[in-house]
Amino acid sequence: MKRKITIIGSGFSALSAACYLAKSGHDVLVFEKNETIGGRARQFKKDGFTFDMGPSWYWMPDVFQRFFADFGKKTSDYYELIKLSPAYRVYFGVNEFIAIADNLDEIVSTFEAIEKGSGKVLREFIAEAKSNYDIAIKDLVYRPGVSPLELVTVETTKKIGQFFSNISRDVRKKFKNERLIQILEFPVLFLGAKPSDTPSFYSFMNYADFGLGTWHPKTGMFDVVRAMESLATELGVQFFVNSNIEKIIVENKTAKAIVVNGERIESDLVLSGADYHHSETLLDKEHRMYSEQYWESRVFAPSSLLFYVGFNKKIENISHHALFFDTDFYQHAKDIYDEPQWPQEPLFYANFPSLTDKTAAPEGMESGFFLVPLAPGINDSEVLREQYFNKIIQRFETITQQNIKEHILFKQSFCKNDFVEKYNSYKGNAYGMANTLLQTAFLRPKLKSKKVRNLYFTGQLTVPGPGVPPALISGKLVSNLIDKQFLKV
Ligand SMILES: Cc1cc2nc3c(=O)[nH]c(=O)nc-3n(C[C@H](O)[C@H](O)[C@H](O)COP(=O)(O)OP(=O)(O)OC[C@H]3O[C@@H](n4cnc5c(N)ncnc54)[C@H](O)[C@@H]3O)c2cc1C
Repeated sequence: MKRKITIIGSGFSALSAACYLAKSGHDVLVFEKNETIGGRARQFKKDGFTFDMGPSWYWMPDVFQRFFADFGKKTSDYYELIKLSPAYRVYFGVNEFIAIADNLDEIVSTFEAIEKGSGKVLREFIAEAKSNYDIAIKDLVYRPGVSPLELVTVETTKKIGQFFSNISRDVRKKFKNERLIQILEFPVLFLGAKPSDTPSFYSFMNYADFGLGTWHPKTGMFDVVRAMESLATELGVQFFVNSNIEKIIVENKTAKAIVVNGERIESDLVLSGADYHHSETLLDKEHRMYSEQYWESRVFAPSSLLFYVGFNKKIENISHHALFFDTDFYQHAKDIYDEPQWPQEPLFYANFPSLTDKTAAPEGMESGFFLVPLAPGINDSEVLREQYFNKIIQRFETITQQNIKEHILFKQSFCKNDFVEKYNSYKGNAYGMANTLLQTAFLRPKLKSKKVRNLYFTGQLTVPGPGVPPALISGKLVSNLIDKQFLKV
């Protein structure tokens, strides 16, 4: 039977769920509070420059392919993908960087040249990471986090030790060079926790990095948002922007309607793709599953200080993605997770999409994106943003040996307060709740409300976790649960 399903938010998880639910034959209405769809992956445009506001690393291309295949489509039906070569550079000092190539053979040679014997060890490490990828990303993450038994398979039982060791320890046993260690610890940062708090089994992120490579949709990550919007529209989904949900109405312990800009919209089922904590605040207290103490006790992914910068010249000596690891990696991690404070000497990340995509900046100019990870919930002010902008630009100039400050046409910042205001993000987290051992699978907030019938959740605070590929999967998982419920009725 056809049901009317209202979806809160239009991030990747909501877009994914909207497609699956429309394919199942439901009337699907998506309500987004902001003026454009895409959630954290919105675009910012100014004076001929275009920026992806959030995600920029297109990893795990197979997950995107699998999503579109569920609808009889291919990613290439909607957008073109470019494999970046090099994938990225990691800077460790003035003009000192390691470039990560777009294939394992070259990466092995790079490692070998830096630490004798490490090439062979790297091949073994990546072979194990691939085997973890095949178990986790091709199978486990497609399980809904309902029962601990989902994690018990013949393969995971053989790897049980990897759930009780961590990436940091594992990498240190195998490699000695501090720079190589940091490069191998970098991919799990996408999961939102310190490498020393991330189980070794999550080395599948290293396979995503070195094995599958870093891709770029031709005109940026927003290509994927557009693609999913087209697909959803083809399937009959209706989108409403500037539509803030103020309340989820519950009657007889059943979700009955949502209130959008003061108007009540009847619903057979409500699905929220907004941050889980915020979604529950749309309910009266007795209908919430998780208390404030619960959220307070969770490990959240970092917030971030971001700058979108238009330069009036081409930037030299740089690559599309660049990590600046020239300061103390572990001190910065401490400043995020252990003793939350603004880092004295921050690590930062920069990307220059206009190096790959000519449409991202006017001719002869460059669009630059800068990111400093910060503790969620940190104090945020214009003065601090400016101070840190100056800090990182100065470092960038010294390390890459050029003047860029005097070539800035404009800069737009985005930080914790904006994450809260724009996305209703808990403590201004940038990418959800971390994937630690105790916040994995069935230990994460549930897709289905246990207190309110016909109320579901999706997105980076529930299963499987942070990142664009997991958001696509989250939308599929919740749609499967919804379909299952309706089949029973
Ligand atoms: C700076 C940054 C860099 C990142 N880099 C990468 C990367 O390189 N690669 C990668 O894979 N991932 C990356 N991520 C993570 C990735 O972007 C997210 O995990 C993913 O986009 C989250 O999707 P979502 O659907 O869970 O949530 P969101 O995208 O946050 O969507 C939630 C939506 O709900 C809306 N909403 C909230 N409250 C309401 C309300 N009351 N009414 C109506 N609408 C509401 C919000 O406006 C938002 O549009 C990055 C994230 C950030 C912020």
